[in-house]
Amino acid sequence: MFKKILVANRGEIALRIQRACRELGIKAVMVYSEADREAKYVKLAEEAVCIGPAPSAQSYLNMPAIISAAEVTDAEAIHPGYGFLSENADFAERVEKSGFQFIGPTPESIRIMGDKVSAKQAMIRAGVPCVPGSEGELPDDPVQIRRMAKAVGYPVIIKAAGGGGGRGMRVVHTEAALVNAVAMTKAEAGAAFGNPAVYMEKFLQNPRHIEIQILADKHKNAVYLGERDCSMQRRHQKVLEESPAPGINRKLIERIGERCVAACKKIGYRGAGTFEFLYEDGEFYFIEMNTRVQVEHPVTEMVTGIDIVKTQIMVAAGEKLPFTQRQIEVRGHAIECRVNAEDPYKFTPSPGRVTMWHAPGGPGVRVDSHIYTNYFVPPNYDSMVGKIIVHGDTREQAMARMRTALAETVVEGINTNIPLHRELMVDAKFMDGGTNIHYLEHWLEQHKR
Ligand code: ADP
Repeated sequence: MFKKILVANRGEIALRIQRACRELGIKAVMVYSEADREAKYVKLAEEAVCIGPAPSAQSYLNMPAIISAAEVTDAEAIHPGYGFLSENADFAERVEKSGFQFIGPTPESIRIMGDKVSAKQAMIRAGVPCVPGSEGELPDDPVQIRRMAKAVGYPVIIKAAGGGGGRGMRVVHTEAALVNAVAMTKAEAGAAFGNPAVYMEKFLQNPRHIEIQILADKHKNAVYLGERDCSMQRRHQKVLEESPAPGINRKLIERIGERCVAACKKIGYRGAGTFEFLYEDGEFYFIEMNTRVQVEHPVTEMVTGIDIVKTQIMVAAGEKLPFTQRQIEVRGHAIECRVNAEDPYKFTPSPGRVTMWHAPGGPGVRVDSHIYTNYFVPPNYDSMVGKIIVHGDTREQAMARMRTALAETVVEGINTNIPLHRELMVDAKFMDGGTNIHYLEHWLEQHKR
């Protein structure tokens, strides 16, 4: 096992990884930007290194600064968390070439999955069902593009091969709008992701977003840890997540979980990963794979009792997965609400000083957050300041616990989306379960203020 790991991230996930290291008896070196000097994980750290000024490009995305920090502190491995450099194959490669273990899959796996076109092709080969569409990158020829769209059937969605974070997508309803939409998406993709390649998928009208968590080691063992329902989204960004997904037959989940495990073995995947699917009319359609730990991993931890971050570290150190598929059991129900520093209805960011923070507690309540009273939320990064996660024997109990937890939570000095979560937790449709990916947008439209 490693003696020392460098955590190349910030915010709640930096604290989460630090905690996993402590439990494993590993020293965690934290890195921080000048804007994060006062962060909780820095205050709690045995060792911390400033890697640059506030802008991410000069700190959390600064590969030489991060690798030098690992060198000067004698760390053996680097955990990238999520976001920032976590899905950057060049970074993983540089980490390994510098003699450190990258806590994640091989650079090659990251590269294949980072390009959505090659990811889809790999999944089709591995027998994972995908959304019907262009098998590969779209050609330049408008005649061919039109022919493809006709075969797929309108509406279609044009997506950037290098896209992420809900950006680089355009829905097209008519042939008249098609060629121009492809050109615009291409131009945007080139500018935003440095890769103008785009592909086409059938636009599913009312799908749910269901994803499968997997864990794999370096000894060809892989398991799936059930699913998460992440259909509550705004602008393709997840707002709250739960596990299990209400109303989906367990046999279907088993079948798709087994497909994901088989695909992992086929591509030699190792570490934690998530297969994202759209689910409609009893069918799963792969959309992409995330080759890292995800924001919503705690709901899976709550229902399986498995520590995903600790397992990531163990398998990166070469250990075998400490459990088999048969030993994994999904128990009860878990829900996570993402707490964002933003206006709850206008969604404008709300950085600033937190004058009062009181976290909820009690049975089955978990809070993953790096904020504290008097903490200053810097304006430079993502607006998520924490996650409230609850577990209950049933979905009803989990919802009741979330309502209590949200009622107890106090955040003053900045705006958060907690009022929105409080409303959603008593919304009749949400309470019924199984809402689709458009539900929240429609709800916001109807509840405009
Ligand atoms: P990103 O990497 O940017 O998150 P994804 O491919 O995972 O992109 O898609 C993000 C979201 O966009 C999905 O959760 C879904 O809401 C919507 N979406 C993507 N592809 C389709 C599709 N073929 N049909 C309908 N909605 C889609």
